[in-house]
Amino acid sequence: MVAMANPVILTIDDDPAVSRAVARDLRRHYGDRYRVVRAGSGPEALDALREIKLRGEQVSLLLADHRMPEMTGVEFLEAAMDLFPAARRVLLTAYADTDAAIDAINVVDLDHYLLKPWHPPEEKLYPVVDTLLDAWAATPDASAAELRVVGHRWSAPSFAVRDFLARNLVPYRWLLADDPEGARLLAAAGAGEADVPLVVTAEGKTAVAPTETELAALVGLTVAPAEDFYDLVVVGGGPAGLGAAVYGASEGLRTVLVERRATGGQAGQSSRIENYLGFPEGVSGAQLTDRARRQALKFGAELLTTREVVGLTDAGSARVLDFGDGSRIAAHTVVLATGVAYRVLDAPGLAGLTGRGVFYGSTATEAPSCVDQDVYIVGGANSAGQAAVHFSRYATRVHVLIRGADLTASMSRYLIDQLDRIDSVQVHPHTVVAGGEGDDHLERLTLRDTRTGETRTVDASWLFIFIGAEPRTDWLDGTLVRDRRGFVVTGPDLVAGGRRPPGWSLSRDPYHLETSLPGVFAAGDVRAESVKRVASAVGEGAMAVSLVHRYLEAQ
Ligand SMILES: Cc1cc2nc3c(=O)[nH]c(=O)nc-3n(C[C@H](O)[C@H](O)[C@H](O)COP(=O)(O)OP(=O)(O)OC[C@H]3O[C@@H](n4cnc5c(N)ncnc54)[C@H](O)[C@@H]3O)c2cc1C
Repeated sequence: MVAMANPVILTIDDDPAVSRAVARDLRRHYGDRYRVVRAGSGPEALDALREIKLRGEQVSLLLADHRMPEMTGVEFLEAAMDLFPAARRVLLTAYADTDAAIDAINVVDLDHYLLKPWHPPEEKLYPVVDTLLDAWAATPDASAAELRVVGHRWSAPSFAVRDFLARNLVPYRWLLADDPEGARLLAAAGAGEADVPLVVTAEGKTAVAPTETELAALVGLTVAPAEDFYDLVVVGGGPAGLGAAVYGASEGLRTVLVERRATGGQAGQSSRIENYLGFPEGVSGAQLTDRARRQALKFGAELLTTREVVGLTDAGSARVLDFGDGSRIAAHTVVLATGVAYRVLDAPGLAGLTGRGVFYGSTATEAPSCVDQDVYIVGGANSAGQAAVHFSRYATRVHVLIRGADLTASMSRYLIDQLDRIDSVQVHPHTVVAGGEGDDHLERLTLRDTRTGETRTVDASWLFIFIGAEPRTDWLDGTLVRDRRGFVVTGPDLVAGGRRPPGWSLSRDPYHLETSLPGVFAAGDVRAESVKRVASAVGEGAMAVSLVHRYLEAQ
C-alpha cells in the first residue's frame, strides 16, 4: 500500500471511448503527480469519491461530461461539492450544450467548461488543467485528512480503529508501520512496531491502541452528555434514532442521542440504498448518515458516540438510563432505536480471524484492498447482494455462498438482475462455510455442499458475512415486554386478548409505538413486527416523537 497517495483527478463520461481518451491524455501529462480515476456514470463516480474520502485522500479536479443518462454532469458536480468542496470543477460539453454549461457556472461554481473535442491536448486541455491544479494546490482542501493511523495490514486492532473512523466519517491517512513515514511517526511518538495502532492527530496528539471512547474524544466526537436530565433520550443512532433526534430537537425537545459505536447503524454500512424516497440515483449509507447527523446537530440535538446503554429503570415520572461505565442519564421520555446486530457465523477458525480477513457486513474501508483478489460473501439477502455489487468493482471474482438453490426467495429482483449482469459475480448454491484457517490472517476456507456433505478447500483472504441479524435487548429483560426473539413489543400488540401488559399503570392503552413502560417508545428494527427498512425506521422515529408530545401533554 502506498503511504501517501497522490491527489486524485476524477474524470467521468458514459461513453467508454471518450472516457478512455480523456484518462489517457490526463495520465500522460499528470500521471506522475496525480492519480487519474475514471468512472462511467455519476453514481459510480460518487461512490468512488466516497471511498476516496473515507481513505482520507484528496481530490484536486473533477472533469465531468454533461450529457449522461443517469445523472447529468452538472448534477454530479453539485453532489460532488458536498464531498470535496475545494476540488476544481470542469464540465466537458458539446457545442450545443454551452447554455447548460454557462448556467452551471452559477449552480456549481464551475471553474471551466471544455468543448469537445479537446485535441490537441497540449493546446486545449493541459493549459486549462495546469491553471486549475495550481489554483487547487494554492488553496488546499481544509478538510483534508490530517489524522494519521499507523498499523499493520492484517491486524484486528488496526482494522478496528480504521473501521471506527470510517463509520464515524472521520477522514484519516493510513500508514503501514514498515513504511518510511509510518516508521518515522512511530519513532517520533517513542513507540515501536509492536505499539500499533498508533493514532496521531493534526495537532500532534498521539494514542497507542486507543479504546473507542478514547479515540472518539481524540477526534472531537462528543462522548459525554452536557446535562443530566433531558426531555427525550434516544438510544441508538441508526435511521430510526437519527429520525427521532431530528424531529425531537426541531420540535423544541431537549434531546440527546446515545450511540454505542457510530451513527448510521446498519444503514451506515450500506454501499447504496436504492429504495429510499427522494434519491432516484440511490444514496450511500455514509452520505445519508452524514446529512442526518448534520441535520440533528443543526436543530440542537446532542449526539453521543461510544456510549452503550446497559439498563433502563422506571423512576416515577423520570426514566433513567445506565451507561456501561456506571454513569447515568435521565429523561421524561425515551425512544429505543437500538436496531439489530449481525448474527455471528459459527464455524471453526473464524472467530480468531475476525477483523483479519473475516468481516461482518461490508466495510467500505476494506473494499479497495480487495483489488485483483477473490472475495467470498456469505448470505442471500439484499445486504449480501449490495455488497457483491460493491465488491465487484474491485475484486477479480466475487463468490456469493448461499444455502438455498437460488436467490429468488431472499433477494429483491432488482439486485438479482444487477448481479446477473456482472460477469465477475458467481453465486454458489447449497454452499456453506465449514471452517477457515490462516496464520496471520485468513488464507483458506473450507466450503461444504449441503446436499452431498462434500467439502473443498479454497484459497481465500476475504470473507464478508451477512447472515441475518438479531436484536441485542437482553439488558431490557424484566423491564419491557419482548417477543421470544427479543424484539420489543409495542402498542396494540401489548393488549392482545384485551389485557394491558403487567405493571401498566395508566388508565389508557399504550400508544402505537409505546412499550410496556409508559413514556418509553420503540422505533425501527428493534420493534417487534417492524418492517426492517430505512424509510420505515425513519418514519417510526418521527412518529415516536409525535407520541412523545402526546405523552408529555397528558403528564
Ligand atoms: C448492508 C445493509 C444494507 C441495507 N440496505 C437497505 C436498503 O437498501 N434499503 C432499506 O430500506 N433498508 C436496507 N437495510 C436495512 C436498514 O439499514 C435497516 O432497516 C435500518 O438501518 C434500521 O434502522 P434502525 O435505526 O432501526 O436500526 P439500526 O440501523 O440497526 O441502528 C441501531 C443503532 O443502535 C445502536 N445501539 C444498539 N444497542 C445500543 C445500546 N444498548 N446503546 C447505544 N446504542 C445502541 C447500534 O450501534 C446502531 O448504530 C440494509 C441493512 C444492511 C445491514
